[in-house]
Amino acid sequence: MLATAAGTALNMLPLQPAETLPGPGIPRALAEERAGRISDLRYDLRFSIPAEQTSPITGRVTIVFGLADATRPLALDFASANSVRTVRAGTRAIAPLSVPDHLVIPAADLREGRNEIVVEFTAGDAALNRNPEFLYTLFVPARAHLTFPVFDQPDLKARWTLGLDVPAGWQAIANGAETSRREAGGRLHLAFAETEPLSTYLFAFAAGRFSTETADRGGRTFRMLHRETDAAKVTRNREAIFDLHAAALAWLERYTGIPYPWGKFDFLLVPSFQFGGMEHPGAIFYNSSALLLDPSATQNQKLGRASLIAHETAHMWFGDLVTMQWFNDVWMKEVFANFMAAKIVNPSFPEINHELRFLLAHYPSAYEIDRTPGTNAIRQPLDNLNEAGSLYGAIIYQKAPIVMRQLEGLLGDAAFRDGLQQYLRAHRFANSTWTDLIALMDERTAEDLAAWSRAWVDEAGRPIITTELKIDNGRVVSLAFAQRDPFARRGLVWNQRLQVTLGLPGGLRTLPVRIAEGRAEVPEARGLPAPRFVLPSGAGVGYGGFELDADSLRYLVADLPSIDDPLTRGAAWITVWEQMLERRTPATLVVDLALKALPHESDEQNLQRILGYMRQAYWSFLEAQDRGRTALRLEQVLRDGLAAAPTPSLKSAWFSALRDVAQTGATLAWLERVWRKTESVPGLTLAEPDYIALALELAVREPAAWQQILDEQLARIENPDRKDRFAYVRPALSADPGVRDAFFDRLGDVAARRREAWALEGLTYLHHPLRAAAAEKYIPRSLAMLREIQRTGDIFFPKRWMDATLGGHSSAASARIVSRFLAELPRDYPDRLRRVILSSSDTLFRASGVDR
Ligand SMILES: [Zn+2]
Repeated sequence: MLATAAGTALNMLPLQPAETLPGPGIPRALAEERAGRISDLRYDLRFSIPAEQTSPITGRVTIVFGLADATRPLALDFASANSVRTVRAGTRAIAPLSVPDHLVIPAADLREGRNEIVVEFTAGDAALNRNPEFLYTLFVPARAHLTFPVFDQPDLKARWTLGLDVPAGWQAIANGAETSRREAGGRLHLAFAETEPLSTYLFAFAAGRFSTETADRGGRTFRMLHRETDAAKVTRNREAIFDLHAAALAWLERYTGIPYPWGKFDFLLVPSFQFGGMEHPGAIFYNSSALLLDPSATQNQKLGRASLIAHETAHMWFGDLVTMQWFNDVWMKEVFANFMAAKIVNPSFPEINHELRFLLAHYPSAYEIDRTPGTNAIRQPLDNLNEAGSLYGAIIYQKAPIVMRQLEGLLGDAAFRDGLQQYLRAHRFANSTWTDLIALMDERTAEDLAAWSRAWVDEAGRPIITTELKIDNGRVVSLAFAQRDPFARRGLVWNQRLQVTLGLPGGLRTLPVRIAEGRAEVPEARGLPAPRFVLPSGAGVGYGGFELDADSLRYLVADLPSIDDPLTRGAAWITVWEQMLERRTPATLVVDLALKALPHESDEQNLQRILGYMRQAYWSFLEAQDRGRTALRLEQVLRDGLAAAPTPSLKSAWFSALRDVAQTGATLAWLERVWRKTESVPGLTLAEPDYIALALELAVREPAAWQQILDEQLARIENPDRKDRFAYVRPALSADPGVRDAFFDRLGDVAARRREAWALEGLTYLHHPLRAAAAEKYIPRSLAMLREIQRTGDIFFPKRWMDATLGGHSSAASARIVSRFLAELPRDYPDRLRRVILSSSDTLFRASGVDR
């Protein structure tokens, strides 16, 4: 029935020359060619899903479209061509040509105008996330064609209808509303309403054993499907989850001036979901643990949940209604989702310092990539959608919102919003590019947005900004800032507004500075009393590598906690940390500063940030003997902080920090008693996930009872999904190196790492700093597997794989393994993966002092 390019049937077909056949993946040229020919696209999909996880899923797709030119063949995308059973064009059986990732329909089987192609197939499992009791699709960025035949590109939007045939007793969710259900012979037949025009990466469904919660808010019914077995946990969280969705929806309708475009609003909580969330219109998928919080949830987790809900809801307009034409502009949907989310959560958390929140949520993560030689521009070229996964990362999620805030600052809030509204109206249910948006915004400002966009959006990296301060007789003679490009040969100049904070004897003073050339003077500073410090990242605004003057650095490393203003403290911490990474101040002093600051830090967001820096400094930047010398003092500070903390959220932050760094016998014995429930932490209620985390952290420290702790923890877990995950991760915790080797060997099998969150958790413990020396031998194989990880995994997997592999290491030997691997890369090694290795190994190289 079906020819393959490698088989003999090839010769029997009236063929086009081989060079016109599409290459693997979704090449840009193919996408452009199809977008120019295809219109009025509709898919009708039917899947029959068996109860047994390993039995095949069969399906049928009917594709109806208008075609402008029928003189050339037309390629459908499908990765499992050999599981095609029949193909029809209209009523005629046809024999498309099979090449990797495509079914090519000969011109003879096409006609100008309306075409109907029907394919019966066995669905590929790779993007179906099949579990014993449920499955869910995840097709971003171009994985729909791993499951069924489709034109898998974002700018061929289609209307979709779906029919699912599932075991009786299952639930299902899809983009469209359920329109009929019929039960017969132990099977449930479900039909879903036709959708508005949707890109393939946004088409989704899930089916399985789920519980359903519903709630009415503002005249709309929201539905939440989940698999949580702890009823109290669901009850505790459900109202907040529905409220946050309703608030986000109302805010977005107001801001955009466009009513929610997708009819019904459902969401599904997936155990161990690959992402925080995925914005399928009408059917958002979330990571269950990000929404169903435990009593021990910190303020950061609550804020994180609100931001995640706001982010995915914002996508209903930004990304879903108006979609990037090609995935090179995927950052646009992410930047708007994050940028809107930051605005949306404000009213729900009136007690939070939101400027500080923006700073801490964006700058440290953006710098983690942008300071490294592996960094990338916000907007990147992309020749094939099979490489789209590598575009994602902190540059688009964290740096881009910082850049978008600058754009809003350049235009003013009202003009910016007006431009966005016009942009959404102009491209609704269609596609657009960054160039379209910038052209709209350009009409609303006198600034040169093209030049601004070139430096911030099209180029990688951040400016290095140096303070030039002259003091005479206790007064400022001159203050200026100079910027330079870390890639000297490029000589890029960034245009930005800074808020420079001066620590004057009488208090803080913040001065605005516009730096658009190589150097900017601050005339207002002249004649001021000599400042104790000059902080160019004041008010959490400026973006760059800030080289503090020596006096300011010395002052901040000693006296940062004496600054009254929390936002200035947050900005000073980030700057001091970056200076430590540049080796301008030693890690031991930064740890001392953290120990001094922690007991006095009054802002919970800053406290969390400092605890995070302290953990990283402790494990990655202190020599083992310094760690030994610091442990007692550190644990005492953390235990005192835990005891004094006034809220469960703060107690939880202190407790998890203590759990992660604990090394002394007394603290470990106490933690073990807490785990055994013979002792409690006053004011803190621990839930199942907390005990699991504690059991894992205890086991990796190999107390006498490590094995019994793991056994008992497994027996204690009531939730089936958490139990499966624990059983999977457990061998990575074994004190027996042979068991750990076997765990790592298993990761070589793609099926064994299908649940990426599980694989990453195991890998992280395998490479725990306490086991780093024994784990060095895994690094070369982990590096060598990266290409395959990218080919077979979801979008965030390659970077997270590398982070999990290298995060626990700080030795010169492990750094040299990485530099050897980099030096010996074959010429055709994908540049994006090379940059993943460079950014994930940045801390390792800085900590070990080895040159790359
Ligand atoms: Zn997003």
